[in-house]
Amino acid sequence: MPAKNSLKSTKPSALSVDESAILQVYARMPIVFDRGEGVFLYDTAGKEYLDFGAGIAVNALGYGNSTFTAALKAQIDKLLHISNLYYNAPAMEAAKKLAHASGLERVFFTNSGAEACEGAIKVAKKYAYEKGIRGAQIIAMRNSFHGRTLGALSVTGNSAYQKPFKPLLSGVKFAHFNDTHSVEKLISEKTCAIMLETIQGEGGVTPASQSFLRDMRALCDKHDLLLILDEIQCGMGRSGKMFAYEHYGIKPDVITTAKALGCGVPVGAFVLSEKVALQSLKPGDHGSTYGGNPFACAAVSKVFDIFDELGVVEHVARLESTLTKALQTFCARYDFLQEVRGKGFLQGVQIRKSSKIQAKDIVALAAEEGLIILSASQNVLRFAPPLIIKEEHIALMQERLDRALARI
Ligand SMILES: *Cc1c(COP(=O)(O)O)cnc(C)c1O
Repeated sequence: MPAKNSLKSTKPSALSVDESAILQVYARMPIVFDRGEGVFLYDTAGKEYLDFGAGIAVNALGYGNSTFTAALKAQIDKLLHISNLYYNAPAMEAAKKLAHASGLERVFFTNSGAEACEGAIKVAKKYAYEKGIRGAQIIAMRNSFHGRTLGALSVTGNSAYQKPFKPLLSGVKFAHFNDTHSVEKLISEKTCAIMLETIQGEGGVTPASQSFLRDMRALCDKHDLLLILDEIQCGMGRSGKMFAYEHYGIKPDVITTAKALGCGVPVGAFVLSEKVALQSLKPGDHGSTYGGNPFACAAVSKVFDIFDELGVVEHVARLESTLTKALQTFCARYDFLQEVRGKGFLQGVQIRKSSKIQAKDIVALAAEEGLIILSASQNVLRFAPPLIIKEEHIALMQERLDRALARI
């Protein structure tokens, strides 16, 4: 008898899937990826896919960048891990580069995005605690996504994700994204922070409006609250700026980053202004065994070097309109596609709700045509390619997506 979760019998012989030992929490596609090269992926049957998903906005440099992999190999040979009881040079170097790139001053490295959000929440609570506030409250946004750990889940505005795990953190209130009044109404003397994604990713690829983000900055200034921007998905060059908040002429007090920070090596960080650092987490308040280890930090450090050398951020800004125009042609051609939203290489195409077409069905057809794209919420197609794609790849994406859409 075949294993319960084996797809062997229904799939081509090259696809050998036996996940009988894996906890079933993901809705996976029946593809086993084997290797990557540039902006292409290959499955175990040798089929080629153009990658416009980048491992969910992680693989900014695509696959097999030899400068990057050589730096990783060199660090593996030198020192993989050392505890935070000691210093290590890659962490100090990576922190300087991240601080400089983010416009903020103090970095704490984590192992994931969710942990970066956990840290940011602790910063906000401690900042309030130092001011004498007990039972601090945080204002977060509906439709947001900050991760699956309990703290990050508490500020994630998705009731389906939250429901089975209640009670979560108390004192979290949800406002409507891009609605200043809905935030203002929730502010009390216990509020310590406003937390949002500069561009909502999982929720449907929705950028904060100019006025909304400026209003959030003004409200935080007025009430001495921390403005926490989650840039885990939209940061690291993806929006056409190093961090998406740079589009808005404001500065946050705290940012969270991960995903493309390590370009495939699991690492995240939260970054604070000097002022907030001095008034929040002190020695003993936070820590991580792996966080900031030499291997992860060698990756981060090299990512910044390569971004500089290749002019990655400028490249994204230059090609943004080529990508958005390509996506807009689909909206003109296919009735069920409504509009294109996003910034840089984080773009969403809204599927008309009345069409009843699910994003995941188009994502599956695209994969059959050799194109990897993502969904966001139930009816948004999400495009998050490696940041190194060229015009010819956008043209190839158009060809393959067109074939997929024609089959709907
Ligand atoms: C992916 C993501 C997270 C969570 O990151 P993990 O590394 O999966 O924990 C948090 N916030 C945003 C905006 C994300 O896109």
